[in-house]
Amino acid sequence: MSNSLEFDRVHLWHPYTSLADPLPVYPVASASGVRIQLEDGRSLIDGTSSWWAAVHGYNHPELNAALTTQASQFSHVMFGGFTHQPAIELGRLLLAMVPQGLSKVFYADSGSIAVEVALKMALQYWLGQQKPEKQRILALRKAYHGDTFAAMSVCDPVDGMHSLFQGQLARQLFAPAPLSRFDGPFLHQDAQALRQLFAEHHQQLAAFIVEPVLQGAGGMRFYHPEYLRLARQLCDQYEVLLIADEIATGFGRTGALFACNHAGVSPDILCLGKALSGGYLTLAATLCSDKIASGISSAEVPALMHGPTYMANALACAVACASVRLIQQGHWQQQVSAIEAQLREELAPCQTFAGVKEVRVLGAIGVVEMQHPLNVAAVQKRCVDLGVWVRPFGNLLYLMPPFVINPAELSRLTTALCQLSQQPDWSDAAVLPGA
Ligand SMILES: *Cc1c(COP(=O)(O)O)cnc(C)c1O
Repeated sequence: MSNSLEFDRVHLWHPYTSLADPLPVYPVASASGVRIQLEDGRSLIDGTSSWWAAVHGYNHPELNAALTTQASQFSHVMFGGFTHQPAIELGRLLLAMVPQGLSKVFYADSGSIAVEVALKMALQYWLGQQKPEKQRILALRKAYHGDTFAAMSVCDPVDGMHSLFQGQLARQLFAPAPLSRFDGPFLHQDAQALRQLFAEHHQQLAAFIVEPVLQGAGGMRFYHPEYLRLARQLCDQYEVLLIADEIATGFGRTGALFACNHAGVSPDILCLGKALSGGYLTLAATLCSDKIASGISSAEVPALMHGPTYMANALACAVACASVRLIQQGHWQQQVSAIEAQLREELAPCQTFAGVKEVRVLGAIGVVEMQHPLNVAAVQKRCVDLGVWVRPFGNLLYLMPPFVINPAELSRLTTALCQLSQQPDWSDAAVLPGA
């Protein structure tokens, strides 16, 4: 094992990590339910759902069955010229559950690509409307939409990677991150700022892209649903498309099936990913309305110009069907509201610790924002010693456990967070940015 860890350290890149001085990694032997088993025999309770994805837990019998059944038929065929039941079935399931008005599905191979496709849809739509001047995208400060170039261009320009890739990134327009809290009053200044940007720039604007209600990897901020209603209204008034990136929020995580539902708003274009395939395989989707699809089809180039090799991978679609069907059964509602209540109660004490700036909870997401940046390696080692798996970023400690977690297991996670946030000595200004 030490041999293979050494190989990993020398040769394999991990996310947002230096190869010269990599963060430690922990070899996994197996995972089941909410438990991740390390090769050295230790068992960890998962507080991350492997970055929002494994909502039903690991090694789920129904998801496993969907995969093996599909693998025994075929795993993949090109989607150019072929179609298959898993893709069709998944499309049916998705269209029946997403906010109304969406009727077309594009399967992409990761969340970032789903965002690329959404932006292409918006740009091609306006080409079809003979409005080629509508080319810029409005995004929010503190946004995170992925790591590919167009996706990066709509991430927060300061905390994101803009300075690193200056000159390569499309210059988009940014609105201030919403200040109105999810459960507070809707603030006039949020409305004012957004109205002004639309009024001034709508002629160049193709779309407004938002992570509805929850800004995830850009800071785990929860904002007021009224902001989305205003966004929808301004998009209609000024002929700008609304893109909802629900890659993190989709499928119940925030307490609503989709975060847009908190506001009763339908976007023109919707991005899904992460929990879509229950944490099994990389799959994402970009959905749009008839209006967008027919607008693109009436352009000089009438096709959406995207087509990944592994588009609509049958294994991924089959496991996604199984995952989405589990969501459809509706237990998530009860699970997420129980997790929410327990997170609120058990994380509340953190609020009194000197090093803690704020505690906030929404749906199955609990955040402890510290005053200072955290040392990822030190925090993770401590968590592993405590038998839990938590991945901090920046000055944030946060939990987004699988929905199937039980109260005792969740208490192990919240206890760990309370212990960590009580200690003043986790700060390390030299930590790398990123997730
Ligand atoms: C994770 C994430 C993405 C990118 O998805 P990948 O599958 O990592 O490419 C895009 N948008 C949001 C809101 C995300 O949370």
